[in-house]
This record gives sequence, C-alpha cells and structure tokens, in this order.
Amino acid sequence: NWMSSKSEFAQPPVDLRTDIPHSARVYDYLIGGKTNYAPDRAAGDASALAYPSLPISMKQTRIFMHRVTRYLAREHGIRQFLDIGTGIPTQPNLHEVAQEAAPEARVVYVDNDPIVLTHARHLMTSTSEGRTEYIDADIRNVDSILGAQQLHEVLDLKQPVALSLIAIMHFVLDEDDPQGIVRRLMSELAPGSFLALTIFTGDSNPEGVAGVGREYNERGIPLQIRDKAETERFFEGLDLIDPGITLVHHWRPDERDASEGVRDADVSMYGGVALKR
Ligand code: SAH
Repeated sequence: NWMSSKSEFAQPPVDLRTDIPHSARVYDYLIGGKTNYAPDRAAGDASALAYPSLPISMKQTRIFMHRVTRYLAREHGIRQFLDIGTGIPTQPNLHEVAQEAAPEARVVYVDNDPIVLTHARHLMTSTSEGRTEYIDADIRNVDSILGAQQLHEVLDLKQPVALSLIAIMHFVLDEDDPQGIVRRLMSELAPGSFLALTIFTGDSNPEGVAGVGREYNERGIPLQIRDKAETERFFEGLDLIDPGITLVHHWRPDERDASEGVRDADVSMYGGVALKR
C-alpha cells in the first residue's frame, strides 16, 4: 500500500490508505472515475442510497467549474488560476478548459490528498505557452500555500488571479474559520481577481443531503452542510457577478453543457463568482 511518488516531485513515499475512504476518491467514484478502492465505493454507494441524485449534483458541479473557467478566461481575460481542492484528474481538467480558451493560461493546483499528489504529473500537461504546477498543501494552512515557491514561480500576484474553490469548502469545518481562509487568500490577490466558489447545501434536498453528511461522517470524513446565508458570507466584501449565488446548474447555463432536465432537488451545491475591486 506504500507507493513512491515520481522523483521529479522529490516527495517522501506516501501512504495512500486504501483501507479507508478518501473524499477525492469517493468523488472520483461517483462521477464515474477509476481511481478508487472498495471503501471509497462503499462510501459512495451508501451516500447515493441516501441521496440518489448525488452523482448528478457532482457532475453539475464539475460542469459549473468548466463554465466558470471559460467565462473568466473569455469575458474577463483571466489568465491565472489558483485551484485549491483539485481532485483526481478528470478530463477536462481546469487547465485544459482555461488553455482551450487561452493557451497562455497559467494554473497552480493545490490539494492535500496523497493520491492526488501521485497523479500530479497528469496535471502538468500544459500547453507550451502556458504553465501548470502542483502544490501539496492543506487549505487550512494558508501560509503553506502563499509561501510556496511554485505559486510565485507560476503566478504573478500583482496581476488578477481566479481563486477556484470547487467542492472543497464542505471539508473545512466552521471551527477552522472557512470564511476567514477565503478572505485571507483573496486579500493576497490583486484588484480584478475573482473568487469562484461552490458550497454544499441541504436547501434543495434537506433529507437526502443530511443522509450524505451522515454517511461521510460515519466513515471518518467530517463534512459541513451550509445554507444560503452561510454561503453568502463567503463572498462578503466582493462583488457578485450576475446571477449571484445559485444552485450550480442555474449559473449561466450554456448550450455546450447539458443541464436540461436537471431538477433543483437533484443539485445540492451553490455556486457563485465574485470580483475583487
Ligand atoms: N475541485 C474538484 C475536486 C473536488 S473533490 C472538482 O470540482 O472536480 C474535493 C477535493 O478537495 C479532494 O481532492 C480533496 O482531497 C480536497 N481537499 C479536501 N480537504 C482539503 C484540504 N483541507 N486542503 C486541500 N485540499 C482538500
């Protein structure tokens, strides 16, 4: 169960702990990926039993990330992205979406899961004009991200950056001050930067989502479910872009992304994008 990471990352061997579920692998399983083990699948199956639409919600969240990335690259000329809570690579990854719109786009990925680290090299397949890097860090330790050499090698923090926090903040409990973490990260970014954020909510399906929370918690993955008012607090001091905070499938739907026929009760994620003036 021990695996050496590639020497180019100069990391010590990591223990993937395939005996317990990991959030990144449960997510991978539920969106149809192959990088997961029996405990991850058991957690995914139990969660989907409690809330059968969970895979739909997760796919819609993933598609929201694609739409937001395209929107920021095309409509606002964003060329720098900081994506925290990257997940196991699933095509298209954020840098592929960004670089399709703008080949020179630069992306820094951050995640704290050892299995995401072992896949980091797949996240490095940048266009020659652009660049991608990976930082192994925990969002609760903001200094370890802001102080990372790779961050400053790839991103110029004097120019606008899109901070992308997709399907991660429910793993940051209120006791760790998640809004404070976001505020701190945004305070380091230049005016003209954006926050793209999704928040796990029970507003559209209280029972199903409570069941998901229970299944994750029982398996040692603490999870926080938040309502609209708590979601709004993450955007304080920033200018929300139209249409504001919505369930992810309602945020600027376009023809390219299938969200037709998706019901609100199938989606348990709020999404929003905001500008830092
Ligand atoms: N953003 C991706 C993946 C979401 S899955 C997408 O939208 O498809 C959530 C990811 O957050 C997982 O990869 C998990 O490892 C990561 N994560 C959870 N808690 C974290 C923390 N405290 N710090 C950094 N990453 C974290």
